[in-house]
This record gives sequence, structure tokens and C-alpha cells, in this order.
Amino acid sequence: MEAGKVIDFQSLTENVGRFNLSNKTCLIPEMNRIGSHLLAAVFRGFGINAKIMDTYKGLDLGREYTSGKECYPCQITMGDILYYMQEEAKRLGDDFDPEAYIYFMPEADGPCRFGMYNKYQRIVLDSFPDLNRLKIGSLSSEDGYSLAGIIEDSRVRDLRKASYFSLLIGDILDRLLWRIRPYEKEPGLTDAFIERSMHLMAETLERLGPAKNFNKILDKLEEIIAEGKRIIDPAVPPKPLIGIVGEIYLRTHVHANQDVIRVLEGYGAEVVNASIAEWVNYTSYDGLRAAKAGFGLALRQFRLGLMKKYLKDMISFGGDLFYQEFRQKKVYSRVSSMIDLAEDHSVGHLEKTLMEEDLLNFDVGTEACLSIPGIIEYARGGYNGVVNVYPFTCMPSTITSAIVGPLMNELGVPYLDTPYDSSTQPGREAAIRTFMYQANQHFKRNGRK
Ligand code: SF4
Repeated sequence: MEAGKVIDFQSLTENVGRFNLSNKTCLIPEMNRIGSHLLAAVFRGFGINAKIMDTYKGLDLGREYTSGKECYPCQITMGDILYYMQEEAKRLGDDFDPEAYIYFMPEADGPCRFGMYNKYQRIVLDSFPDLNRLKIGSLSSEDGYSLAGIIEDSRVRDLRKASYFSLLIGDILDRLLWRIRPYEKEPGLTDAFIERSMHLMAETLERLGPAKNFNKILDKLEEIIAEGKRIIDPAVPPKPLIGIVGEIYLRTHVHANQDVIRVLEGYGAEVVNASIAEWVNYTSYDGLRAAKAGFGLALRQFRLGLMKKYLKDMISFGGDLFYQEFRQKKVYSRVSSMIDLAEDHSVGHLEKTLMEEDLLNFDVGTEACLSIPGIIEYARGGYNGVVNVYPFTCMPSTITSAIVGPLMNELGVPYLDTPYDSSTQPGREAAIRTFMYQANQHFKRNGRK
């Protein structure tokens, strides 16, 4: 065969992985707007030139370079990076150098397709003459999204702590938005306030994050919360409370989910979405769980080398989980003295809930392990309805939908599946309106949390 026609996959190992980010521009896709911007700010504080790419503007490109069988978030992010590169090439002309950038695309190890996005996108980027020099920086859930190698070793732990903290602040600002907006004195006040607050917190995290001056950062957050509370009109009575679960990208990317939270609010809801920190805690929890199981097996087989390896993993994942849950509790306890925002359950608690109901096992993995017990906790917590938001054909969310449908009937709590691709379904509004009618009835009969 002619050499030019041989496809080799060397690029998947050479140009996808963990790369040092010094002297590079780190391009981060915008998933949930606030969390992504705050994370980029922390990176900048550590000297990394991090930028958030415009999202959804390149959707046509994303669709052109995918077959339609890929998950929707893969199409969107494919479009985001192609569009960004196209615009940079126009802006910089002859000075455009794809090697100056690292495109940040994390992954999760099976069993669903998130582990394949960066491989697929690598193949597409390699098909462009210059973009084969654009490296994909990939962090994996396999090692709990370790940041080792991207900056000097002595600062890796601090970067990880500050990055996690930025996700917590992002979760709080999101929850503040959903808590205030349904009760705002004038339409538009909350959106403008949250946008301003996001930039303020980004500036604060960039400045104080590297020194891990978390208390000072929380002081600023408290000022923001105090200001936000003044937007609430006390004359507006409480509204039905709706919980959202689902696939992390779709439920947090407002373009991709056609701004489902705002649509629900339009029909009279107050909404709480599952958090980003929950997924990070889950990857640490799952790593610890797998290490414990591996250690038990190695012990029975008396394989010392393996025992040592799993012990090391247990210490590493256990340490991360302990720190993250500790930090999360600290942040929420400061915030909860000022405003009633929903708090996360620990992942251990969610596993217990799943086992009590005997609906699925954590050995299966994926976000179904969080969504199913999350739905049960919403129902137990007095929510008036639950919405599952996910990409069309998403495997974990389809599992969730199949399992919880009958359960929600039994519990008598309204439940709605909202799968998305880039099309607009004609019956979408009607389905949401009907769901909100049921949620309202539930609210009238049972009240709310
Ligand atoms: S979680 Fe769903 S959308 Fe995401 S990669 Fe897996 S199957 Fe695809």
C-alpha cells in the first residue's frame, strides 16, 4: 500500500495527553458558562494563559465534521475548536501558529463514549493541513483528573485545590441565579447581576486563588450574595421546586439544552440543577472504590506489588475525596447562613440510596449512578417535579430514564425526559407546559421543601 494511504494512530498517543502548558495558550471549551470562566481565571492566576472559546458559533462546522452518530456534546465541542482556529487564522494571518495552543478536552474512562471525544477530534484535526500541530490536552477521570505535568510539580496540588474551589464558587453562583431569578423585582436584573458577579469572582480567584486565600474569596462571595438577596421581591410567593439531573454537559450548557431552566421558570418553576462538583467528587469516590476492590483481590492472591499500587491509589483518591468534601462543606456552611441554597449529598450517601432501592450498582459506573439516587433524593426532599436533561441517545441518561420512570409513577412525583440534539422538537414546549401543570398540582397538594 502507498505510504500516504496508511492510517496510523500514532497521533492519538503523541498529540493527545497531558502537556506542559507554559508558553502555550490553553483553550477551554465553555460548558457551564460560570464554572468554565472561573476555572480559566484560576489557571491564569497560576501563570497559564487560559482562554474560554466562544461556544455554539461553530455548530455548523461541528456537524460538518461529524457523522451524526457521535454524542451531541462531541459535535458542539468539535465545532467550537474548529471555529476558534478558523477565527484565529483569520485574525493572525501568517503569524497563526497552531502549535502555540493546547486544546483542553478531558475524558472519562468508559463505559460510555466520553473517552472517545478527544480521539475522534484528534482524527478530524489531523485532517487539516496545519491543525495536526494543535495538541489536545486531556485529563482523565481514571486518575481523578490529576493535573500532574501541566505545570511545575511543586504547584500541582495548589492548582488542583484552587481549581476545585473555583468549581464550588461556580456552583454557588449558578444556584444563586436559579434561587433569585424566579423572584426578581424586575425582569433581567438577575442575569445582569450574575454576569457582573461572575467577572468579579473571576478577578478575585485569579488574584487570590494561587495563595489559596479561600476565606478572602468567600468574603467577596458573601458580599455578592448580600447584593443578590436585595433583588428578590418578598411579595412573590414560593413557586413549585423542580430538580434537574442528567448528562453534565447538556444540563449545564444553556445553548445545547435550549435554556431549559429559563423555559421552566417561564412556566412558574424555581429550579435546582445538579452541581459540577458532584461529578468531580464522584470520580474521586469511584477511584477510591476501585482501589479498595483491587486491594482486596490482591490481598487474597497475596500479590505484594499490586497491593502496594492499590494502597497508593487508595491514599491518593481517598485524600482527594476527603479534601473536596471538606472544602465543599465549608463553602456551603458559610453560604447557608445567608441564603437557603440547595446543598449536595455526599457521593457515599447517594450510593447508599441506590443500594437501599436496589435499582443499579455503582459497579456499572457513569452518571446514571448520580442521576438515579439524585432523583430519589429530590423526591424525598419534597421537590415538586424532576427533569432529566441529556443528549439524544446518551447511554447513562437512557438507563436513568428506563429505571426511574416507573419509580416516579409509584412516588407520584412528576417526571420529564428532555433529550436534545441540535434540532428543535415541535412538541417540546407542550411537554414542558404539561409537566409544569402536573408540578403545580403536586405543589398545591403537598407544598414544597
Ligand atoms: S454521557 Fe452520554 S453524551 Fe456523554 S459521552 Fe456518554 S453517552 Fe455520550
